[in-house]
Amino acid sequence: MPHVITQSCCSDGSCVYACPVNCIHPSPDEPGFATAEMLYIDPVACVDCGACVSACPVGAIAPESKLTDKQLPFVELNASFYPDRPAGVKLPPTSKLAPVLPAPAVRRGGAELTVAVVGSGPAGMYAADELLTQKGVRVNVFDKLPTPFGLVRAGVAPDHQHTKGVTQLFERIAGHPRFTFYLNVEIGQHLSHADLLAHHHAVLYTVGAPHDRRLDIPGMELPGAGTATETVAWINGHPDFAGTDVDLRHERAVVIGNGNVALDVARILTTDPDVLARTDISDSALRALRSSAVREVVIAARRRPIDSAFTLPELIGLTSTAEVVLDAGDHDLVREDLAIATDAGTKAKLEILAKLPVASGVAERPRIRLAYRLTPHRVLGTDRVTAVEFLRTGTDEAVQIEAGLLLTSIGYRGAPIAGLPFDDAAAVVPNQGGRVVDPATGKAVTGAYVAGWIKRGPTGFIGTNKSCSMETVSNLVDDFNDGLLRDPAERPALLDKLIRSRQPDLVDRAGWRAIAAAETARGDAEGRPRVKFVDVADMVAAAANAEDPPLARRLLAGLLR
Ligand code: NAP
Repeated sequence: MPHVITQSCCSDGSCVYACPVNCIHPSPDEPGFATAEMLYIDPVACVDCGACVSACPVGAIAPESKLTDKQLPFVELNASFYPDRPAGVKLPPTSKLAPVLPAPAVRRGGAELTVAVVGSGPAGMYAADELLTQKGVRVNVFDKLPTPFGLVRAGVAPDHQHTKGVTQLFERIAGHPRFTFYLNVEIGQHLSHADLLAHHHAVLYTVGAPHDRRLDIPGMELPGAGTATETVAWINGHPDFAGTDVDLRHERAVVIGNGNVALDVARILTTDPDVLARTDISDSALRALRSSAVREVVIAARRRPIDSAFTLPELIGLTSTAEVVLDAGDHDLVREDLAIATDAGTKAKLEILAKLPVASGVAERPRIRLAYRLTPHRVLGTDRVTAVEFLRTGTDEAVQIEAGLLLTSIGYRGAPIAGLPFDDAAAVVPNQGGRVVDPATGKAVTGAYVAGWIKRGPTGFIGTNKSCSMETVSNLVDDFNDGLLRDPAERPALLDKLIRSRQPDLVDRAGWRAIAAAETARGDAEGRPRVKFVDVADMVAAAANAEDPPLARRLLAGLLR
């Protein structure tokens, strides 16, 4: 009975390296890896050893016999990645499983490399992991929030708890004796880029893309118009979005854009609150959803079904849990697209869409309607949103959809970092392989590096950041070995003192563990994974309950640093 990769696949490729028979593809050294929507196990070659199960950081792999009914479509999806052939017939090897990049090797005899990583989301944690594979490297990870792990905590939808399981890997990385957390410390406010460079050989920014791309149509300023990313942050209890006003009094909401974020937000707005009550959704979002009047969320795409931005695994997951419908006119588009689709993944998406029921007048439970060829034109309403007007794409036919809530979900946008160049059009820091480059001179900015969304733009999955960070770390270590990085001007011991003088409410790893323990204890009382703090002051108060580590452990940590 072969193993099967399911919806929460993060594509970090750990399973590929664990597999003794090389039956998981595309592997990181194969061309399709960077664009794959997930990884797939070859059912003919799998020897059912389960090594991949232990390696997977998000619990996405299970033996076929243990799949839930909702996961069964993934059996065919894994198999369909490989050509049909008789049992036992092996495919010729397409991968040597050579590492994508040679592991970085610090070679400057006896010298210690110290790196500041700014941002503790997946790109930052994978970068720290890669750096710490080397002896004599110290990594200090900074985050402006008192809680780490970026979008895993604040972006992944609360009903995707498997995906959030990657934090167990991140906790192991953070537990490394040469890893230090400086949480609740904002670079640009408490410390500058120059401060960081004075205490480290290099600063690696993994700050993501904190803003939404804004839709520039009339009426976006009306109450009731907002963004999906703010809504997801509110749902997840991000302290900056705790007060977000999401108007759920009207029976219809419209989401513009049909990427995976749009699917996440539409699914949460239509899920039974009793189901969400078993997750770590923020209490205020849960309360609001319990009294929500929303019966239908329309996900409006400007292009055709064949161009849908959501991925196949997420569509399979959505249609197995939510009521999803399509108008008759959109069914016609799906049929036309099926006739011309060539790529297997796109065909599979269209086949799922073709089987969706036609939207009828009355919804028995809150539902999601996928809608196509709708170019946003203007938002209607006087003192709040009452409808959204689209133009049928490529025509001037106006289509109005009544709604009390409009959420745009048209992608994220990176923000400039003080002291570094910025490419405003692409909303990334200009770089070559993660080395920050000044476009004015074409030269590398000494000691500055980027990884994750601020390096490559807002695309890919959690695990995509592993290979992205590996590339940057490899270049950073090469620069160190080549003597291109300046030794820090200040002694390492002075960093802690400086930070505490600028931010007395600094949260360290013990403080974060105390916050996490308090949240889990609150969750235990309600049968939930955790009940999150959504206020920074509460987080800092919980962190203050951290016990000092025993003297022996502190001494050992000091020796190992
Ligand atoms: P996305 O996948 O880039 O989708 C953006 C959507 O916005 C597209 O449908 C795009 O349509 C539309 N759009 C852009 N500009 C528009 C405009 N002016 N008017 C109307 N529509 C417009 O972005 P995302 O959903 O924010 O996701 C970001 C990344 O995170 C993706 O790589 C996604 O897969 C990943 N993610 C993954 C998961 C998961 O695996 N569970 C969950 C969330 C996010 P066009 O195609 O026509 O441009």
